[in-house]
Amino acid sequence: MRSSEREAEEAGLERFQSPGRGRGLRARRRFALGELLFACPAFTCVLTVNERGNHCEGCFARREGLFKCGKCKQAFYCNVECQKQDWPLHKLECSAMCVFGQNWNPSETVRLTARILAKQKTQTERCESEKLLSVKEFESHLDKLDNEKMELIQSDISALHHFYSKHIEYPDNAALVVLFAQVNCNGFTIEDEELSHLGSAIFPDVALMNHSCCPNVIVTYKGTVAEVRAVQEIEPGDEIFTSYIDLLYPTEDRNDRLKDSYFFTCDCRECITKVKDKDKLEIRKLNEPPPAEAVRDMIKYARNVIEEFRRAKHYKYILCELLEICELSLEKMGSVFAESNVYMLHMMYQAMGVCLYMQDWEGALRYGQKIIKPYSKHYPLYSLNVASMWLKLGRLYMGLENRTAGVKALKKAIAIMEIAHGKDHPYVIEIKKELEAH
Ligand SMILES: [Zn+2]
Ligand SMILES: [Zn+2]
Ligand SMILES: [Zn+2]
Repeated sequence: MRSSEREAEEAGLERFQSPGRGRGLRARRRFALGELLFACPAFTCVLTVNERGNHCEGCFARREGLFKCGKCKQAFYCNVECQKQDWPLHKLECSAMCVFGQNWNPSETVRLTARILAKQKTQTERCESEKLLSVKEFESHLDKLDNEKMELIQSDISALHHFYSKHIEYPDNAALVVLFAQVNCNGFTIEDEELSHLGSAIFPDVALMNHSCCPNVIVTYKGTVAEVRAVQEIEPGDEIFTSYIDLLYPTEDRNDRLKDSYFFTCDCRECITKVKDKDKLEIRKLNEPPPAEAVRDMIKYARNVIEEFRRAKHYKYILCELLEICELSLEKMGSVFAESNVYMLHMMYQAMGVCLYMQDWEGALRYGQKIIKPYSKHYPLYSLNVASMWLKLGRLYMGLENRTAGVKALKKAIAIMEIAHGKDHPYVIEIKKELEAH
């Protein structure tokens, strides 16, 4: 047995063959609610372009007064140590960003993959984030990729050659296809406490866990370290499950998503019993219920408008136009769906995001107030989506001088985060300070 495996076993965890799921992670002892199972430093990670200047490029700390890389003036750091540590990876981009200027636009997947290649060049042994699963062992599902996915990978490979010619030794095309496919199924996105996107990362040991729609752990981030905590009591012999997807949606939608991105169908309790589906697809209470066909058509419409909005956001529509898509679709869906219906909630959530972006605090608050109660019902008991919604609401109330409601909402957020993030997480400490400050 390798020493890293032994270390994991001492921590009460082991890799095993999970029937029907391939390899997985299993508990060898009991874990209490909120207990840390393990922490995994990023094998490599990359800060998203939009957060440059707000977070340190090296350690992801959020703070004021970061100083910038003198050469490209686009990467920001806490101090010289953070800059020095990040240099072997930042140098892949530093001079290229100067050369390409406005035309420098590799996707985050390409940026992350460049870093994996650079890291693999210097790394000779397994690193501390690969105690139970190494990057080389990642599943690629290469045989299941359709033409569209293959084309996307080929265009990522072109971008990699285009933007990263220096400092990287490229493996051949076949090996790059495998690597991109591996990154697509095993990469993580890092979010902050309000679930804003901060960057992308590789956490090999975290990628060992299989998916369930009723997960017994949650993954959170402390800087560039992933932490895995129990959100249910875990007994010896239990498999450890995390969730790969947003759990708001009904069974069919969740499995479409799982099939498309991870190539499997989930057989968890939630997917077998579909117990929450009826509430999630709640129909408006009218004297006469709408015909089944009208409901089916509206679900189809909802899925299309969600996709339309996603694309519109991507192509940077004008904010009022985005808000209009939300309002029009809510009005249309509202003729058939109840306000607690997940498709209504999806568009309300998007509308809230646009309001926040436009600094329309009252507008954001109105949407948030409608979202929070059904959210708490649809999501599992401990959910980062619910915690972040309470947190946004609490901060809005505080900003709008409604202290009573603000305190109540922030306390709700803390109650979930103390389990999911741990009592001493910087986010939890920060929110407690916000409670005292007002
Ligand atoms: Zn730093
Ligand atoms: Zn630079
Ligand atoms: Zn499931």
